[in-house]
Amino acid sequence: MWLLLSLSFLILANQLQAEDRASLRLSNDAAGRCQYTFTVPGPQETSCNGGSGRPELEGVLSRLTLLEALVSRLIAGAATGSDAKVELPESFSQVTGERNQLRQDKDRLSKQVQELHVRVTQLSREADGLRNKPCLKTNTSADARRELNHRLDHGYDFRNDAYQEMKAEVSEVPASHLLPDRNTSSCGELLSVGDPVLHRKADGFTGKYGVWLQDPEPQGTQYTNNTVWRIDTVGKDVRQLFAYEDMNQFSRGFPMKVLLLPEAVESTGATMYRGSLYYQRKRSRTLIRYDLTSETLASRRDLPHAGFHGQHPYSWGGYTDIDLAVDEQGLWAIYSTSKAKGAIVLSQLDPESLEVKRSWETKIRKNAVANAFMVCGRLYTVASYTAANTTVNHVFDTATKAGRDLAVPFKNKYRYNSMVDYNHAQKKLFAWDNFHMVTYDVRVGGASK
Ligand code: CA
Repeated sequence: MWLLLSLSFLILANQLQAEDRASLRLSNDAAGRCQYTFTVPGPQETSCNGGSGRPELEGVLSRLTLLEALVSRLIAGAATGSDAKVELPESFSQVTGERNQLRQDKDRLSKQVQELHVRVTQLSREADGLRNKPCLKTNTSADARRELNHRLDHGYDFRNDAYQEMKAEVSEVPASHLLPDRNTSSCGELLSVGDPVLHRKADGFTGKYGVWLQDPEPQGTQYTNNTVWRIDTVGKDVRQLFAYEDMNQFSRGFPMKVLLLPEAVESTGATMYRGSLYYQRKRSRTLIRYDLTSETLASRRDLPHAGFHGQHPYSWGGYTDIDLAVDEQGLWAIYSTSKAKGAIVLSQLDPESLEVKRSWETKIRKNAVANAFMVCGRLYTVASYTAANTTVNHVFDTATKAGRDLAVPFKNKYRYNSMVDYNHAQKKLFAWDNFHMVTYDVRVGGASK
């Protein structure tokens, strides 16, 4: 490169030197005319070394040296860059620092991964240990309570692991299965009955009357207090019990199950309590307890001296001779006998065996009232099954064995009310009024009982 540049400047210098020696002369020729003479050196003369152009050549060479120095500086500056010379060490230092930080992060994360591996291994061992431990029986909340009471009675050491299992088991009992407090202060006199709330209208003619309800104290794990039960009692051989998952499915008409009862049902007096359906067997005074979990007949027993199949029905008729009911105090039968001559007899039943525990005879004519239900150990009767605006007209208190008239307003919105049953867990009356399945909110005073 330097050679080329040098040659270029030499040629340029020669050219400049030649131009400096050219000359123009003006003179008169022999005839007296103006004569111009332009003189330039010949090629041999200009290429001659050591001639008179040497100082100029040295000047050019000097300038060339300066140019070479300048070009050299320029090239050096372009190649490195003065700023880069300054910044490069700083950048290198910064990159090195970041690399070191990344190495530290990698080491820390690797350590955490190892710790997590150890923790997972420990948890897996604990899970295997728990799986291999013998479990306590968990089929019913009653079993759990019995086991707990047994351990309490025998001074069980609650500091050991078994207590933790027991505690966990008890805490897992669904709230809906817990028994209500029988001494609740809300148990008292019936104060008012709200307007009927419609939940479902039956589709066909078999829905003219029937029974529908929810278990106030469900047992087992299969059904809850949300489960809705329904029996259409129109027909000669009523055996189908429809189960709905909840009120929403009931309202939409989508049963989750249909149970076939072992004996045909008579009328609309059935009730639901603690995982069993209680009902009167067709054309008999036989009471049946049907276990909903095992789907078997759990108990059957005749209700002594009870009239049946039209001997002592409600005013509606329909073979409503024996009406079963549930309240805060247990299971009841509302019926009449020959001895009572059509007056309502009230008996408290053993829910397991269906035996009569106690009986009361009232002065209420059974065929003079439309229906009856129990609240807090008191019997209440409805005056009419067809009047749109009727009343709860009598009360009989089993605690005092005394009865009296009432006038709590009650509405038969659809004018043919064939069933009224109280659910103490929900504080609602369930009723079947002329194809319409309705509930009434009930207000109960807490002052007495
Ligand atoms: Ca009833």
